Amino acid sequence: AKSRGRNGFQFFNQQIQKNAERNAELYLHVKSAISRNEFALYYQPIVNPNSGKIVKAEVLLRWQYKGQFISPDEFIPIAEESGFIVQIGEWVRTEALNMLTRLQNKQLAVPLSINVSTIEFWTDDLQQRFLAYFDNKQTEFESNQLPYHLLTLEITESLMMKQQDSISQLLIELRRRGVQISVDDFGTGYSSLSYLANFPVDQVKIDKSFIQKISMGARHEALIEAIVSMSRALDLSIVAEGVETQYELDFIKQQDIEAVQGYFFYKPMAADVFVDLLAKQAKL
Ligand code: C2E
Ligand code: CA
Ligand code: CA
Ligand code: CA
Repeated sequence: AKSRGRNGFQFFNQQIQKNAERNAELYLHVKSAISRNEFALYYQPIVNPNSGKIVKAEVLLRWQYKGQFISPDEFIPIAEESGFIVQIGEWVRTEALNMLTRLQNKQLAVPLSINVSTIEFWTDDLQQRFLAYFDNKQTEFESNQLPYHLLTLEITESLMMKQQDSISQLLIELRRRGVQISVDDFGTGYSSLSYLANFPVDQVKIDKSFIQKISMGARHEALIEAIVSMSRALDLSIVAEGVETQYELDFIKQQDIEAVQGYFFYKPMAADVFVDLLAKQAKL
């Protein structure tokens, strides 16, 4: 037992070492991922739960590094640590705006929802830069009448707790330009309900951890019901995320939730597949 314990310890040590090496490697390489063309955007349709019709889509970043996809859950924190998330965020928004133009030209446009890292709002300078990006693009795309109302930004609750005044102000400015604001992973953070009431937002996304517990009993279902009635009281639209089963979908329908995202309908897909899907839907 003694020697096994030692081996176990050694194994544990090697694992830590390996993780550290991998993180260091990713840290180093994520900075060149844009110039090496290793990023791509995937699109996950969000549907009307009754008709199954695609009403919008979430934009999800993919990194193909050395021939393998690395999960954003792994590389986004690394990109945040290095600050490179700011450049990545701008790349994502530019790519998403190009997609909107492409869809617009085919008369297939649906609203796109983009994830924003808290780090991108970290300082006053970054907040100014964030807004300036949209104003610059507006001029650039003016001929296409780029419709900012087709863009939603997904922020997380943690953002609502920091520098509340300046961030509220920034969100107000963005909304003035037509951009919608959604609170992602709702219910998983530390925010109190009063944050939600005081913050200029349009939508909440019920986190998939709540949806996954729907079949686990009345108490879990009551929690979703509470989120739904509170969102309605605040006049916020609702997206249920991570719907995988018929049972979950039936519950969502009972709640009159207007939009659903999850593997039950679609997984995230490459840009061309997404465009084809919208074209097919338009012909129906
Ligand atoms: P998120 O914003 O909560 O995105 C939803 C995640 O749930 C996505 O994972 C999506 O593929 C997954 N998902 C959707 N439906 C289902 C389902 O039915 N079952 C299950 N099990 N999962 C489902 P993904 O694409 O791996 O992204 C993970 C996270 O990485 C995102 O979580 C988001 O926080 C972050 N992320 C992705 N793209 C970006 C980006 O462009 N910028 C930033 N800052 N973060 C991003
Ligand atoms: Ca999201
Ligand atoms: Ca989410
Ligand atoms: Ca998440």
